[in-house]
Amino acid sequence: MANDSLRIVLIGPPGSGKGTQAPNLVKKFGAGHLATGDMLRSQVAKKTELGIKAKKIMDEGGLIPDDTMVNMIESELENNPACKNGFILDGFPRTIPQAEKLDAMLAKKNIPLQKAVELKIDDELLVARITGRLVHPASGRSYHKLFNPPKVAGKDDITGELLIQRSDDNEGALKKRLVNYHKQTEPIVDYYAKTGIWAAVDASQAPKNVWSDVLKYLGQH
Ligand code: ATP
Ligand code: MG
Repeated sequence: MANDSLRIVLIGPPGSGKGTQAPNLVKKFGAGHLATGDMLRSQVAKKTELGIKAKKIMDEGGLIPDDTMVNMIESELENNPACKNGFILDGFPRTIPQAEKLDAMLAKKNIPLQKAVELKIDDELLVARITGRLVHPASGRSYHKLFNPPKVAGKDDITGELLIQRSDDNEGALKKRLVNYHKQTEPIVDYYAKTGIWAAVDASQAPKNVWSDVLKYLGQH
């Protein structure tokens, strides 16, 4: 991995727009997009041992054990050719132990994190975003029934394949995901603030305005 490549973490509650902004970063900086939720859902679809266990936890709005997630990321960083030119972490780290283990792993490889961007938004705005969300499972592309509808109802713009509603994208599971976010994930904001690599962006704005704020923070405006 080149030393001048982009190495960034996106932090934000469910529906804050991590999966919308990450592809913009991929396009601009050519780094690999590691979305742990998408990776887990692909295990679920393949009905692997991990997938079967993970589905239950995800549907209940819980978190997969730290070691499982750390190993998943380590293996991607080592084997995924897209990460040769840096990485965008989306959905990881989600706990302080994950953040600490990530730092240790990156220190050993001499490729420390450069930025941690928090997509900041009030919980009240997330219910509508999550309950109207549609996704294209194969690519991770997401749409919204009202805010960002596909060109043809229920179908992915690029492949024409069917869009689905995630089984954890309902009000009940969202409540638990938000509780977990505030309790387990939000503390990593302080963790990165202490190292000076954190910045918050107002994620209640339209996606293109969020993107321009992200670029400003990266010094690319
Ligand atoms: P988004 O709205 O951006 O998709 P999200 O938090 O709702 O964000 P994902 O990132 O897709 O959803 O993750 C879905 C689920 O996968 C989580 O609720 C959790 O159960 C599990 N998961 C994903 N990443 C991790 C992680 N780093 N540690 C533990 N569990 C994880
Ligand atoms: Mg996502």
